[in-house]
Amino acid sequence: MNNQSAPDASTVPVIRTVSELRQQVRHWRAQGERVAMVPTMGALHHGHLSIVHLARKHADRVVVSIFVNPKQFGEGEDFDRYPRQEERDRKSLEEAATDLLYAPTVGEMYPEGFATTVSVTGVTEGLCGDVRPGHFDGVTTVVTKLLLQCLPDVALFGEKDYQQYLTLKHLVRDLDIPTEVMPAPIVRDMDGLATSSRNAYLTKEERSIALALPGTLRTIARALERGQDCATLLAAGIDRLRAAGFDTVDYLELRDAETLVLLDGLTAPARLLVAATVGRTRLIDNIAVTPGG
Ligand code: AMP
Repeated sequence: MNNQSAPDASTVPVIRTVSELRQQVRHWRAQGERVAMVPTMGALHHGHLSIVHLARKHADRVVVSIFVNPKQFGEGEDFDRYPRQEERDRKSLEEAATDLLYAPTVGEMYPEGFATTVSVTGVTEGLCGDVRPGHFDGVTTVVTKLLLQCLPDVALFGEKDYQQYLTLKHLVRDLDIPTEVMPAPIVRDMDGLATSSRNAYLTKEERSIALALPGTLRTIARALERGQDCATLLAAGIDRLRAAGFDTVDYLELRDAETLVLLDGLTAPARLLVAATVGRTRLIDNIAVTPGG
């Protein structure tokens, strides 16, 4: 940091090894500082950055990780074409006052002979767990590693990936990992579409089709809160998504907000969750639905 004229003098420091990460976090801890971690796969957007801002409110230091985790992509999914733009991400993180970017290589994360899988049952069943076999094992394995590598006081995850957030809450509780898991609210673009790194894949036409996702969720959520029949609303919702131009609808379901148990009516605080594909792009979204709400 003493060479102010170097082109990247003011950018966020990048660390690529577990030992350097541990050393830095140990140093902060020795000074009595509280550390937050925000795990991401990069291609950062406002959704990610709002989590970083939230993290700052709960910690003295914020570590953002960028790791496109091969283990959470299935065969035929978009691992190879997933956007990778570390320099741009680093600039965004600088603006969000991030203290450290942890960007390990695949070899650092999964060295030769790596043979362990961390698996959570229950909340990982159904929804994306059914449509993307092995996906949550990939997520829980890498997040366990990230948390044990960094040992943050708090780790923040977006409600955009609601099933993932609940899964990670279970993981941390079940394995006694000394980190608080905190949810971050969904961030949407002005038109209502939840921000996502995968939105970059959408053509202009596909993006206008994609808007049916938040629109349908809002309509059904309000109708459920007015007491209308759940099955009828969900069936009409799937029809609406197909009519808008979605090629497939993987699911549109009402589930308990804490347990993710399938609901056939609004009997408890719930989440309405959807996954659908337009062209080659699979999008997910969800909304809170509250009895009497
Ligand atoms: P990803 O890079 O897609 O793995 O996402 C990293 C983190 O950012 C996860 O905790 C996501 O849930 C969260 N996230 C992604 N998009 C959004 C969004 N639109 N609003 C809130 N959180 C988000």
